[in-house]
Amino acid sequence: MDSDFFGKLEALYSEMDQKWAAAASHYGFECTGCKDNCCKSLFFHHTFIEEAFLAAGVEALTPSVRKDVQKRADGYLETVFDSTGSVSEKRPCCPLNIDGLCAVYPNRPMICRLHGLPHHLEGADGRIVKGNGCAQGESFFMSKSYFDFNRTPFYSRMASLELEYRKAKGLSGRIRKTVAHMVQET
Ligand code: SF4
Ligand code: SF4
Repeated sequence: MDSDFFGKLEALYSEMDQKWAAAASHYGFECTGCKDNCCKSLFFHHTFIEEAFLAAGVEALTPSVRKDVQKRADGYLETVFDSTGSVSEKRPCCPLNIDGLCAVYPNRPMICRLHGLPHHLEGADGRIVKGNGCAQGESFFMSKSYFDFNRTPFYSRMASLELEYRKAKGLSGRIRKTVAHMVQET
């Protein structure tokens, strides 16, 4: 059953990747990684389907790499959260980033795919919320008109797919996890 859902998720991810590539091309921006890598941002993920897909990527790693990323995940969580769960100021790199590359690149979550470029969101009240791209691309983004990168349809479709997945798997409740939390639980 998971493979059907994963197929739908991959199709959605592919559309996100295509939109990202079109926007990057519009600005003439190429992400080749950077010192303040977006893999150091503290992101929380909120879908069971993405958690399951990421876990499948971790489970496909060789046993030694998997052990390594799990150890990194332990260290990440100890650094970022104190014993009460409060967030510290420290921002280590995601445990799945190995020497600048994502160890589960095809399985990385939505926010990792959408990050880095100027975008906007349409609120339920019609309000538009704009997001800047990353600092590395600022000169590229400033030199061109805005590329219409609306994240809202992607978020909506992800929410629908998540709902379908939850129904099929009998899952409920809130999920709010970093990649490190997900890796630790694999
Ligand atoms: S998207 Fe921007 S912040 Fe992220 S790695 Fe690429 S250049 Fe760096
Ligand atoms: S899952 Fe991959 S792309 Fe996302 S933050 Fe971790 S290393 Fe970076």
